[in-house]
Amino acid sequence: MLARVKDVCKRNGLLILSVLSVIVGCLLGFFLRTRRLSQQEISYFQFPGELLMRMLKMLILPLVVSRNMFPANLVEATFKQYRTKSIPIIKSNKAASESTTRRFIIYGVQDENGSNVQNFALDITPPPEVIYKSEPGTSDGMNVLGIVIFSATMGIMLGRMGNSGVPLVSFCQCLNESVMKIVAVAVWYFPFGIVFLIAGKILEMDDPTAIGKKLGFYAITVVCGLVVHGLFILPMMYFFITKKNPIVFIRGILQALLIALATSSSSATLPITFKCLLENNHVDRRIARFVLPVGATINMDGTALYEAVAAIFIAQVNNYELDFGQIITISITATAASIGAAGIPQAGLVTMVIVLTSVGLPTDDITLIIAVDWALDRFRTMINVLGDALAAGIMAHVCRKEFTKDGDEVRTRQNES
Ligand code: ASP
Repeated sequence: MLARVKDVCKRNGLLILSVLSVIVGCLLGFFLRTRRLSQQEISYFQFPGELLMRMLKMLILPLVVSRNMFPANLVEATFKQYRTKSIPIIKSNKAASESTTRRFIIYGVQDENGSNVQNFALDITPPPEVIYKSEPGTSDGMNVLGIVIFSATMGIMLGRMGNSGVPLVSFCQCLNESVMKIVAVAVWYFPFGIVFLIAGKILEMDDPTAIGKKLGFYAITVVCGLVVHGLFILPMMYFFITKKNPIVFIRGILQALLIALATSSSSATLPITFKCLLENNHVDRRIARFVLPVGATINMDGTALYEAVAAIFIAQVNNYELDFGQIITISITATAASIGAAGIPQAGLVTMVIVLTSVGLPTDDITLIIAVDWALDRFRTMINVLGDALAAGIMAHVCRKEFTKDGDEVRTRQNES
């Protein structure tokens, strides 16, 4: 029994420490409020939390560049190899997003209040000062949207360059791996920093109980959004394209969804998702082998949804009114940030800084959502895994003729030899 408890603690050490740090931070904050500390004392107290935020910000630039360049490249290169019907799918998506962008820019011309919308267009096609700009509204001076668009474009072009692009691709992979190693070390400082971040925030707040109520609404909003996306939108897409019953498909991957709920990691769930798709849903092995790893790297619908809701929640807590251009910016950066998030527990919380920075919201306010994030992470990971599995199911349906023909040819060749 004792050995079992030890084992559970060892495997979930960081999670347990994080939950404890949230509890200790809240208790400490509420206790110190009764002591009426001076502003100077509060700022000393907030110092370890400030260090944590600086660590996160330090990692953003290499993380965004390397991950946004790498997956785009991976997709392009892999699709080149396969040359199946997946190409029209990607193209139609591209066309859709291009037309959305075009409509958006036209809207900007017609809008009386167009300056913000035009700023958005200027931000995504940045001049040489692509990395930093000193304008109000970009809290830390970092033009995150510009960096995301630039690196994703570079990634696609690198994929098309073939062998001559390989050195830069390897550099990005190496950069990404080294940043992930720094993250792995830094996370052990997080619980300590979290205690002071949360306590410091509570000390600063006018009415912490009102924020607690809002936090409850925020958590309910995220869960409702995930439920709508997971139970209606994704299954409907599957049904419209394949004309098959999505409930049967989802029943087949139930085990993977439960593992995602238990581990909060789509990467850790990958082997079970693979097994479920092959054994229960009879998806072609080649399709699962291609779609699932790409999906676990870049297709995180649950994370994107949560990051957008969280950014809007933080804006509301700060009485910050978001205009149309900023809401679009949040949607785009939340999608890009979800691509940047690794398939590990609470990775979305780290890339959340990107979304907040893009519209000039205070990144320190991430502390507000830390208290409920460990729970929300489990639900969004389930949706991430569900999205990947349904994508593999759709792809298997779309490519079925090609793959059946392929399989027949292979069998015929084997019979002849
Ligand atoms: N835990 C999520 C996943 O593994 C990523 C995140 O949103 O934090 O898919």
